[in-house]
Amino acid sequence: MIIDDAGGLVFRPPSEARSFILRVTIGCSHNTCRFCDMYKASKFRIRPMEEIEGIIERGAYAMPFIRRIFLADGDALVLPTDKLIAIMKKCYEKFPNLNRIGAYATPADLVRKTPEELKRLREAGLAIVYMGIESGDDDVLKLVDKGTTAALTIEAGKKALAAGMKLSTMILLGLGGQERTKEHALHTAQVVSAINPTMLSALSLIIPHEVPLYQDVVEGTFTPLTARGFLKELDMILRHTEMTKPCIFRSNHVSNLLPVGGTLPMDKEKMLAALERYIPQVDDTLPLLNDNGNF
Ligand code: SF4
Repeated sequence: MIIDDAGGLVFRPPSEARSFILRVTIGCSHNTCRFCDMYKASKFRIRPMEEIEGIIERGAYAMPFIRRIFLADGDALVLPTDKLIAIMKKCYEKFPNLNRIGAYATPADLVRKTPEELKRLREAGLAIVYMGIESGDDDVLKLVDKGTTAALTIEAGKKALAAGMKLSTMILLGLGGQERTKEHALHTAQVVSAINPTMLSALSLIIPHEVPLYQDVVEGTFTPLTARGFLKELDMILRHTEMTKPCIFRSNHVSNLLPVGGTLPMDKEKMLAALERYIPQVDDTLPLLNDNGNF
């Protein structure tokens, strides 16, 4: 649910489908990931407080029943802590039933904030952050210009959890291409195991012609995975992931070939068995860009 006059596309996690989307920034402050075109058309800006307050007022008038708010766009946590707290305070004042606020956060945003700042944000109502891990392999992260490293990502995730927030993380199957599928899988398993997030989602890489990574495909330096390659990579990640606390795992995004889900570590064997049954049945010859419905 959204009330906004600002242009550009709006994105939110599937679990925020019933939330009021409050765009505290327009676009993504990083905006250089070579596989991502989400905010390429938006010039990044932090919105002034008056603009944000105006949207809260309009939202509260139109939808006073709202229980959840999602702070958009790409990385709301880039805002100064005091401003975020002022925004959340206003939200709780205006929406009497509000019980949860969530936001996207990059690893850099979380690392930049002190543990005390994150605790203050949690106390002010920020209950869940969504962080794109994408890969735990430093070479892959560099290749796609993610602007982080495996070590920084682990630090960021642990800080969010230590502040008492729920942490929902995303990894991107296929991001190492055929060239680095093994390293991508093993190092991603290491990073997610080290963080032990509350939730983990595996999405599959889509390479539209507009993103810079597509040029690598054209030049032959990046070979997309086959359908079987995507499933084998997921199998390898799950096989090497060791969670010590329950983590809800989902691989049911529209980009995924086979919906797999459960709670790690308890359902790991069940999920691996489902993958093992399916893997031999799918094609292993055609590299997939996934941009035109191959899946
Ligand atoms: S940080 Fe996220 S939204 Fe921003 S460019 Fe990278 S993947 Fe896209």
